[in-house]
Amino acid sequence: MDNPVIVAIDGPSGTGKSSTSKAVAAKLGLSYLDTGAQYRAITWWMLNNGIDVNDPAAVADTAGKAVVVSGTDPLDPQISVDGVDVTMPIRSQEVTAAVSAVSAVPEVRSRMVEYQRAAAASAAAGIVVEGRDIGTTVLPDATAKIFLTASAAVRAARRSTELNGTVSVAATQEALTRRDAADSGRKTSPLAMAADAVEVDTSELTLDQVVDRVVALVEQKLATVR
Ligand code: C5P
Repeated sequence: MDNPVIVAIDGPSGTGKSSTSKAVAAKLGLSYLDTGAQYRAITWWMLNNGIDVNDPAAVADTAGKAVVVSGTDPLDPQISVDGVDVTMPIRSQEVTAAVSAVSAVPEVRSRMVEYQRAAAASAAAGIVVEGRDIGTTVLPDATAKIFLTASAAVRAARRSTELNGTVSVAATQEALTRRDAADSGRKTSPLAMAADAVEVDTSELTLDQVVDRVVALVEQKLATVR
């Protein structure tokens, strides 16, 4: 039997990672894992339990307590913490503002990476995993590694649209830039492009074009390894 296909899709916020990853998984008949949602879920749990997210020691002490369960259906990705469905609440501004601090704590990362490797190992046909450090740290032997980028202005405009214009493009761009700097500058597995990843700049592309490009890259890789 062929080995399961593992597709790592990394990149900063607002590059179209989630929409692309879900569509690629659905097209190729693969499972899907949103690792950003896992970091958001544990952040939601910390905020909900009164943990000071700016105190790394407090975050480290409680990192093992929350049980995060991620669905892997690209058409209906759900996530729960301690049995509570948090699919919607993890998208709040409060969680978004706190997630980089929580995800920088090594104890949080090692727990999430365990979940992520287990999900990849149990996906029978294979899986598309999106995040920041999938190609570099979590699944360095992935079949195909993609790094999505886009200009800061395009990314901010996309995020502002997702928020239904409730936050201005300028404020969104500032928040995105701050989060990227924190994610790229942290000590433990920062946001980075793997040496063997292919970069796709999505600034001038439609979602369909990005999906087609990524599917083609995965198929090219498969043709060389199978
Ligand atoms: O992808 P999303 O924007 O939902 O990710 C939220 C946050 O989770 C990121 O800003 C980053 O701090 C963290 N993250 C991470 N490693 C990953 C995925 C996300 O540190 N693999």
